[in-house]
Amino acid sequence: MRICVLASGSKGNCTFVEGENTRILIDAGLTKNELETRLSVIGIDPNSIDSILVTHEHNDHIKGLGAFARAHNSKIYAHPDTWSAMEGKIGALELNQRFGIYGKDFYINEIAVSSFDLSHDSKHCLGFSIYDGNKKISSATDLGYITDDIIKHLADSSLVILEANHDITRLMQNPHYPMQLKQRILSKQGHLNNQDTANSVLKMLGYGVRGIIAAHLSEENNSPELVLQALNETVAKNGGNLARELHVDIAKQDQIGNIYRIKS
Ligand SMILES: [Zn+2]
Ligand SMILES: [Zn+2]
Repeated sequence: MRICVLASGSKGNCTFVEGENTRILIDAGLTKNELETRLSVIGIDPNSIDSILVTHEHNDHIKGLGAFARAHNSKIYAHPDTWSAMEGKIGALELNQRFGIYGKDFYINEIAVSSFDLSHDSKHCLGFSIYDGNKKISSATDLGYITDDIIKHLADSSLVILEANHDITRLMQNPHYPMQLKQRILSKQGHLNNQDTANSVLKMLGYGVRGIIAAHLSEENNSPELVLQALNETVAKNGGNLARELHVDIAKQDQIGNIYRIKS
């Protein structure tokens, strides 16, 4: 199994996942051209993308969705509420490109997909676990808070892409953000802050997670250093050593991430 975060942040999100014989994307939040460019940089023919899983209808997750799917005949999987919310934004699609996610696990060829609900200010928001044989990776971004139930969904993943959106102090002190926007981000339907991410990572260490990619970092209200500091301090406070126990990576907005190969 191979995985690569092609872009992450409020200007566009997309992750490439490859099973034994099937290639999929999670979200298509860059323009079609930018998606094609980033895929070709990592040696992937855009025409080989079988399907796209959609987390929710916000523009940073669906910007190039319709155009990419039409150009490359990809199937799209989304929750019915997400379909109705993005219907007017993504343009016409063939009937055989439209698939609903109804809360049950499903297969895309040999890849098994399990979805779980996230609390966010969209019509619906999903996280995903993706299985190829005995290998599992998970992704959870765009969530206002995290529950033990979500953490159980992430358990036993070799790699978890997990939101670390903002540092609360930096957000509160940001003079460019109106109070209403701050409240939206901080709310239970907003985005996950570094401390909540770090507390979740601490729990995941006990659930067999081997690596995380911190994702959807706010460019103004966060930095890789602040994320790592929160993670290190939280794990150390509980008697652990982050570097020894977990591989940590940070997804970027304007840079293609590392390509991970998950072996059984
Ligand atoms: Zn987003
Ligand atoms: Zn969102």
